[in-house]
Amino acid sequence: MKPLLQNLAEMTTHRDHLRLEVSVLSTLMLQGRIVRVRALELFTLERQTMVRPRSWSQGTEVVSSAHDPSSDPSRTPLAQLPELANCIATRERSAERSEDGCHILWLPVWLGETVHACLEITQERPFKRHQRDIITGVFLVYQNYQNLLDYSERDALTGLLNRKTFDEQFARQQIAAVASALADGAPTGQWLAVVDIDHFKQVNDRFGHLYGDEVLILVANQLRSMFRSEDRVFRFGGEEFVVLLRSMTVEQAHSALERLRQAIQEQPIPQVGQITVSIGFAMAQGAAPVEVLGRADQALYYAKEHGRNQVCHYEALERSGALGKKVEHSEVELF
Ligand code: GH3
Ligand code: MG
Ligand code: MG
Repeated sequence: MKPLLQNLAEMTTHRDHLRLEVSVLSTLMLQGRIVRVRALELFTLERQTMVRPRSWSQGTEVVSSAHDPSSDPSRTPLAQLPELANCIATRERSAERSEDGCHILWLPVWLGETVHACLEITQERPFKRHQRDIITGVFLVYQNYQNLLDYSERDALTGLLNRKTFDEQFARQQIAAVASALADGAPTGQWLAVVDIDHFKQVNDRFGHLYGDEVLILVANQLRSMFRSEDRVFRFGGEEFVVLLRSMTVEQAHSALERLRQAIQEQPIPQVGQITVSIGFAMAQGAAPVEVLGRADQALYYAKEHGRNQVCHYEALERSGALGKKVEHSEVELF
């Protein structure tokens, strides 16, 4: 058995949330007579908080689920774990259940003000104080490190993912989409959208930078609330956002983006009034991230050139021959 400190050192070499999760579970497995460890993911589905096992111990190994959270057959409402639900609601550090020789300890992982995951440790005898101290210590190192990692991946103003994480998320989406298409026949379509605020410079010029920042935060919140947990939303800098949409047909992607466009148009912003966005999107499979970004950007350029406040689809524009010389020019600008 590797000493605990060595395990902790190994754990903090990871720069990836899932690997870090697997690593903490492996470390916890070695503490005492633990029967099973799991990491539960918490997510929202139709306004209800759900949990599903994302990683768990299997013999001496730790494995992770390939499912999308919302279509994972093992998902259940958080309300079915009342001890955990109550612990999160009251911001307590841990929850426990003991019945019939089965003792479960839950440790919710707080990332800022929210819980996206929870570690669950099961054993046949009660948790002793010494063991609990060690588990809590390992857990706190893990939680702090997760927070640090998360902080380095986010944009400070809006809290959205930053550009640095884009390539990795893009690759991961591709793998996960194939896995869920194989597992439950989900549509394999993946889409990349570039969302750009129209005439944003005028907001800054007329109302000042602070109001401009407020608009960016409101748009970011709309983006966050309108997509599913398996989609990814980034701020690419300035007033430009990128969304990766997973497992959707082209019609579903188009109408999701159209709903976003409309919601932004209909939300009046104090002092500033109405703002609008233009959106370009393209198919995200079978090409390098930079290439897909270039295509979505061409569709965005087209939307800007043709009146703004609209959603344009690259492949449809290309098929119709609408992408002329002028648009090709934007590719040059991008690179
Ligand atoms: P278009 O409709 O063609 O997109 O025009 P636009 O004015 O939105 O685009 P343009 O690229 O000319 O201007 C973007 C502006 O965004 C310029 C820059 O000052 C502003 N900006 C970039 N980052 C920030 C930020 O973090 N905060 C604020 N307030 N403004 C920002
Ligand atoms: Mg703009
Ligand atoms: Mg722009």
